[in-house]
Amino acid sequence: MKKIFFILTILITSNYINGQNKEWLKVIREHKTVENITYFFDSNVPYKEREFDIELCRKSIKEDLAIINEKEYKKVIEIEFLTSRKEMLKYSGLGAQGLAIFERDIIFMIHKNQNSPIKHEMMHMISMDKWGDTAESSHWMNEGLATYAGGTCSKYTLEEIYQYFMQSGKLIPMNTIANDFYSANDMITYTQSAFLVKYLIDTFGFDKFSKLWKEGYNNFNKIYGFEFEQMQNQIKSELKIKYPKDIEFNWEEFNKGCI
Ligand SMILES: [Zn+2]
Repeated sequence: MKKIFFILTILITSNYINGQNKEWLKVIREHKTVENITYFFDSNVPYKEREFDIELCRKSIKEDLAIINEKEYKKVIEIEFLTSRKEMLKYSGLGAQGLAIFERDIIFMIHKNQNSPIKHEMMHMISMDKWGDTAESSHWMNEGLATYAGGTCSKYTLEEIYQYFMQSGKLIPMNTIANDFYSANDMITYTQSAFLVKYLIDTFGFDKFSKLWKEGYNNFNKIYGFEFEQMQNQIKSELKIKYPKDIEFNWEEFNKGCI
């Protein structure tokens, strides 16, 4: 009897140390709230790097607001910083660098020291907070604006990129951009849209832009008073003067995107 009790005790205690089952490992996430945003990090991320990300978020908000000519962003949201694309896929369902889910007030983002997606993802949240979700045929405006704000990881300006797409016949037809945005090469769709968004804002302002955002591509003529194709031809002739010869462009390098 005594022997049996001893064996049982051994069996029961073998997986427990100080009341904890050693088969179970702790995953600790820590969070901090600064103004309207709560930031979540894995406890392994050094404090210095967390503070850097938070500061970058705050700076990005200011810069994003300036781009769209707005004053403040007060929406209460959460930002989950994850450590790898594998983790992104697990939690957000998408193996991207970042994902802004407007209707859930949450951003998933990979914590990285270079080429951070913070400014891009913050712009999604801010612009949708100001103008609402985009029409089905305006996803290109949402991604274009976020790409214009967040940058492209390449050494070329948006104008040079657009010029290269024109000279090499890579421009994607506007019908595809508007109605089937996610079907084409994303290095082209995102940057082509970013250039067009910047052109629309710089040339015609935000009133019309935010209308097109909400009402969709089919209403372009109604909102702007001319066909989109007419604007594309105008851009073509403006760039022809600026770039009379083809520009040098490393497509292979560019097409790798942000690594
Ligand atoms: Zn995006």
